[in-house]
Amino acid sequence: MSEPVEVVVVGGGAAGMMAALWAGRALADSDSGKIQEGKVTLLESGSRMGVKIAASGGGRCNILPTQAEYTDFHTSGSVNVLKRLMRTWRLSDQRSFFEHELGLPLKEEEDEKIFPVCESGADVRDLFRNVLEGIGVSIQKDWKVSSIEKTEQGFQLESDSGTRLDCKKLVLACGGQSVPASGSDGSGYQLAKQLGHKLTPTYPALVPLTSKDKDFAELSGVSVEVTWRAILNTSVQEERTRDLLITHQGFSGPAILDASHWFTRDGAAIQISWGGGSSEEWEMHLNAKSRRELQKALSDILPKRLAQLLIEKVGLRAEMRCGNLSRGQRMRLVDTLCHFQLPVNGDAGFDVAEVTGGGIPLNEVNPSTLESRCAPGLFLCGEMMDCTGRMGGFNFLWAWITGRLAGESAVKN
Ligand SMILES: Cc1cc2nc3c(=O)[nH]c(=O)nc-3n(C[C@H](O)[C@H](O)[C@H](O)COP(=O)(O)OP(=O)(O)OC[C@H]3O[C@@H](n4cnc5c(N)ncnc54)[C@H](O)[C@@H]3O)c2cc1C
Repeated sequence: MSEPVEVVVVGGGAAGMMAALWAGRALADSDSGKIQEGKVTLLESGSRMGVKIAASGGGRCNILPTQAEYTDFHTSGSVNVLKRLMRTWRLSDQRSFFEHELGLPLKEEEDEKIFPVCESGADVRDLFRNVLEGIGVSIQKDWKVSSIEKTEQGFQLESDSGTRLDCKKLVLACGGQSVPASGSDGSGYQLAKQLGHKLTPTYPALVPLTSKDKDFAELSGVSVEVTWRAILNTSVQEERTRDLLITHQGFSGPAILDASHWFTRDGAAIQISWGGGSSEEWEMHLNAKSRRELQKALSDILPKRLAQLLIEKVGLRAEMRCGNLSRGQRMRLVDTLCHFQLPVNGDAGFDVAEVTGGGIPLNEVNPSTLESRCAPGLFLCGEMMDCTGRMGGFNFLWAWITGRLAGESAVKN
């Protein structure tokens, strides 16, 4: 029987490649910078690694945010574990790692996002692959892990074609179940369950929401800045200002992708302030434009077709003058402009969701090492855990932080 591999990482996405890199670094010979054969193996079910890195950010790869707080993430599990994990690798150190250790220049863009200067997710993926090969990580593609058993020495993995591989330490980095065509088909959850883990129910996150409202469908393509609020049992859970895009099927754009979590997980109502203005600001605007027609006054701030639709939804006429509205009409108009409940009835599903919410509970891992509390020697990282970030590079940040910690801990613990 051949010697078990020191560390096997399952999943060649952002978290898995980062984990394999840090496991490799921890085991590398200090002179050559290389590891011996059979020390670290990365198993990937598909024929390509890092499919989501290549596709990310419209192909440009929003690799990190410029700032990050624990409130930029959602988990149904322990917020303390989340906070502790975030402290393990500061954002400034992550930037420095990419720029100075991987040699990937980065640049800041609007909306507090960081991109590689090359603006190519495919290049970022290739860079990881080259670095992994350079230090001697063995990369096995088309190796889908279908079952895992605990053994005396560690773990035995079996592929869907019946190949077996033994290892001492195991890192699971299989992603969630969003965009299953990318290889992240949810099979990682089953593997973790085989080793004793539970699963917090999963749901599509960062996903467009659907609507049956035909009036909005006719405005497909219209984009507008909004302030959105997620409201659950009359209390506001989160509020942010971003762009909303009206589509044939419903609503999308950064505002809706960020807000979607509250609807898909909790069934929260999504309330919209069109144009992002407050009631007071809209009141002031209507006062200042008292001689203007409603349609024109609203179109100063909103796209014309949207202004027309909102006026109709309040039961007013476009040609009415702002100053001629009754108190009741004005109150109804301002309420619609600032507290509009978005008519959504579902979501576009896992096929298009950028990430998966839910997953392996955070309290089932040691927050200092990411070692499983259910199966010693097993380490978990990335999107398969119950934590998702909002749009803007936060999901990669999570993959980098947890991948690094899991890979390094697998060697040191
Ligand atoms: C279109 C799109 C754009 C995005 N853009 C951004 C962005 O700009 N910025 C950002 O921060 N986030 C972005 N995200 C989210 C981000 O890509 C993910 O959160 C991140 O890639 C998760 O990394 P991961 O390694 O945990 O999982 P994944 O990237 O999903 O990788 C998991 C890997 O494991 C493999 N695998 C799964 N099961 C098995 C198995 N049983 N055996 C072997 N291998 C297996 C899969 O094939 C896959 O390669 C985007 C997502 C999508 C879909």
